[in-house]
Amino acid sequence: MTEHKETHTATEEAKLLRIAIDGPSGAGKSTVAKLLAKEYEIDYVDTGAMYRAMGLKILDCGIACEEGPELEDLLEETDVDYRDWRVYLDGEDVSNYIRTEEVSKMASDCSAIAAVRSKLDSIQKRIGRTRSVVMDGRDICTVVMPHAEHKFYITATAEERARRRYLELKEKGQDVDYEKVLEDINKRDYNDMNRDVNPLRIADDAIVVDTTEMSIEEVVQYVKSIIEDGESGK
Ligand code: C5P
Repeated sequence: MTEHKETHTATEEAKLLRIAIDGPSGAGKSTVAKLLAKEYEIDYVDTGAMYRAMGLKILDCGIACEEGPELEDLLEETDVDYRDWRVYLDGEDVSNYIRTEEVSKMASDCSAIAAVRSKLDSIQKRIGRTRSVVMDGRDICTVVMPHAEHKFYITATAEERARRRYLELKEKGQDVDYEKVLEDINKRDYNDMNRDVNPLRIADDAIVVDTTEMSIEEVVQYVKSIIEDGESGK
């Protein structure tokens, strides 16, 4: 991975390449983001992985996922970082422990809590101020990097996202039911779009890419063409 010197002045900031990607679960954001990061030799930050790491910590500590002094104390003493495509919780690489159903649910629950969002937003904002980066999540164009040079909202119909997820799980040998996968996707969309703090929405200046009938390669080519034509710029 290319090392990018941390920059702080306005002139140096003007040279940064920051690509912000939002969208609902299962739209292919992370795959597209990783391919763009490789292509442009810049960092990649999966903000969903940071919420998952926080969910893992709450589960490990056995505290209730609700506003209050217990959670405040936990947040105070917790360190979440994302570098070299891995997520670190208190210095430990936890990337292999965050994809379970239990952690997914806790990540979703804790992402609705203002104190959790505020902590992770400030870490992500600091990264986005100083480095060229592709960052994907739910509030990147709207809250974390509203000044990113390029902003996209990547989506697909719930049925298509469920179909892709179903095939992925089947390929891993899991016994899955399409209707259940679709129900989970709809539930997650509802939670993401209806929480009080920083709900998922399309930023006014983001380019919407509907990938329902596109392959990943087509999406990447399309997004690159927009970046290179400067159409998604500020
Ligand atoms: O993208 P992923 O499914 O890994 O995200 C895990 C959880 O974190 C999701 O429930 C999502 O709602 C939440 N999230 C968020 N804001 C972000 C990224 C993820 O609320 N920027």
